[in-house]
Amino acid sequence: MPDSELARQLADLLPGRVRFHEPMKLHTTWRIGGPADIFVEPQGVDDLARALAFARRENLPVAVIGGGSNLLVKDGGIRGLVIKIGEGLAQLEILGARISAGAGAKLARLTRAAKEAGIGGCEFLAGIPGTVGGAVIMNAGAYGKATGDICTAVKLMDEAGRLAERSGAALGFGYRTSSLKGSKLIVVEASFQGVFREPQAIEAEMKGILEKRKQTQPLGHPSAGSVFKNPPGTSAGFLIEQAGGKGMRVGDAAVSHVHANFIVNLGRAAARDVLELMERVKMLVWQKYAVELEPEVQILGED
Ligand SMILES: Cc1cc2nc3c(=O)[nH]c(=O)nc-3n(C[C@H](O)[C@H](O)[C@H](O)COP(=O)(O)OP(=O)(O)OC[C@H]3O[C@@H](n4cnc5c(N)ncnc54)[C@H](O)[C@@H]3O)c2cc1C
Repeated sequence: MPDSELARQLADLLPGRVRFHEPMKLHTTWRIGGPADIFVEPQGVDDLARALAFARRENLPVAVIGGGSNLLVKDGGIRGLVIKIGEGLAQLEILGARISAGAGAKLARLTRAAKEAGIGGCEFLAGIPGTVGGAVIMNAGAYGKATGDICTAVKLMDEAGRLAERSGAALGFGYRTSSLKGSKLIVVEASFQGVFREPQAIEAEMKGILEKRKQTQPLGHPSAGSVFKNPPGTSAGFLIEQAGGKGMRVGDAAVSHVHANFIVNLGRAAARDVLELMERVKMLVWQKYAVELEPEVQILGED
């Protein structure tokens, strides 16, 4: 818990951008999560560097979030400093068929801008509710394509506030992962290479994808998308459904009837409900198929 002097110093350093005991459920699509001791939303790279310098000086742990669409924050919340990379770092720049986007830009904005500029290649990101930074870290993807296929370069900030560029090829993209995951590097910007395409064709493809998502995903309830990674050669949703997992429930956390790899928050689900349900689902699939499901969602904070 920050003492009042520490709180005052940080609030002076980043006026208007610091909150204390911020409920993380306001920043996750699951609408779940206890309080962050200190919560900062930088309004640019200088702010970000200042927040990191402060954390280093005061020896505070740092957690970084984007859109919170792949996050389970535990009920006890997060100690130290949470940095949200959002609208303050969301600039978009288009050069030919290449788009550079601030890490805080929402994917919806990126896909819209690409469509308007007649740049194809990002269509598969339609309907993924995260930010550019989160998509790079997670190598977000759908329908056979992933962020790593189009990401040519990123700008990163390290703990000391130093900026560096790295090529997309050096980011170790794999299935829902990159070598940046678990590192202390923060994505500040990413560049995506597209190809020129008729805006109408882009729009039609994106519409098709959004329609498919509406039909196959429980978009009416808070969730974090797929909870488990797909095991090699099969889909986690299929295994959970075949094992009879649809509709399983702990408190207000329930395995969706629409898509068995989604756990939905029916109202007041707590992180402990979701974690217990995840354990039960894992057990069910293990007993039936001897397959160990691995979480795709990132878990932060303490009980
Ligand atoms: C309805 C729904 C549908 C979804 N569909 C898909 C899908 O089809 N495909 C798919 O891949 N995912 C899907 N997701 C999951 C999620 O949207 C993606 O994983 C997305 O890329 C996460 O981005 P985010 O900004 O929300 O990241 P967050 O959830 O905030 O964070 C995810 C991870 O990235 C880290 N992180 C975030 N931003 C940064 C940054 N700037 N620098 C360093 N680290 C950072 C966090 O520390 C965390 O480890 C879905 C989610 C929902 C709710």
